[in-house]
Amino acid sequence: MSDIAATGLGSPDFDPVQLRQKYREERDKRLRPDGNAQYLDVSGEYEEFATDPYLSSSPGGQPRDPRVTDVDTLVLGGGWAGLQMAVRLHEAGIDDFLIVDQAGDFGGVWYWNRYPGVRCDIESYIYMPLLEEVGTVPTEKYAGGPEIFEHAR
Ligand SMILES: Cc1cc2nc3c(=O)[nH]c(=O)nc-3n(C[C@H](O)[C@H](O)[C@H](O)COP(=O)(O)OP(=O)(O)OC[C@H]3O[C@@H](n4cnc5c(N)ncnc54)[C@H](O)[C@@H]3O)c2cc1C
Repeated sequence: MSDIAATGLGSPDFDPVQLRQKYREERDKRLRPDGNAQYLDVSGEYEEFATDPYLSSSPGGQPRDPRVTDVDTLVLGGGWAGLQMAVRLHEAGIDDFLIVDQAGDFGGVWYWNRYPGVRCDIESYIYMPLLEEVGTVPTEKYAGGPEIFEHAR
C-alpha cells in the first residue's frame, strides 16, 4: 500500500499536519532561486511564440472597432474558470458582465493547445463542466481537444 493510501482521508492514520508537510517538501523541491529570471523574454527569436496563430480564423479575431462599455462585472479569461463564473453570475441574476480574453475565442487552454492527439486526461464527464446545462454527452471517455474546444464555444 502506498504512503498516500495508508494515510488517506478516512484512515485512522490520517495526519493532516504530516500530509501538509509532505506537500510543502514537494513544493520546495520545485522552487528555484532565480524566480522569474528563469523565464525567457518572449521576443526576438522567440517572438513567434507570443503571436496567436489562430486569431485571424477566429470570431474574435475579425477586424472591429474597439468596444467601449461599462459593465457591472468584467470576467478576465474565457476558459473554464471564466465560463463557469459567467454561468454562476447568470444563475445569480447578474447578466451585465463581459468576458474578455486575449484569444480570439472561448476555450482557454483548449483554444491555445491544438497539437495532434491533444485530449483531457481526466474522464470527460468529470472534466468537462456544464455538460447537463448544455446537453452535451462526450463521445469519448477522454475527449479530444477539438471536442472540448467546441463544448467551450
Ligand atoms: C493540453 C492540456 C490538457 C489538460 N487536461 C486537463 C485534464 O485532463 N484535467 C484537468 O483537470 N486539467 C487539465 N488541464 C489543465 C487546464 O489548465 C484546466 O483544466 C483548465 O482548462 C484551466 O481553465 P482556466 O479557465 O483556469 O484557465 P485557461 O484555460 O488557461 O484560461 C485562461 C484564459 O485567460 C486568458 N487570459 C490570461 N491572461 C489574460 C489577460 N491578461 N487578458 C486577457 N485574457 C487573458 C487566456 O488567453 C486564456 O484563454 C489541461 C491543460 C492542457 C494545456
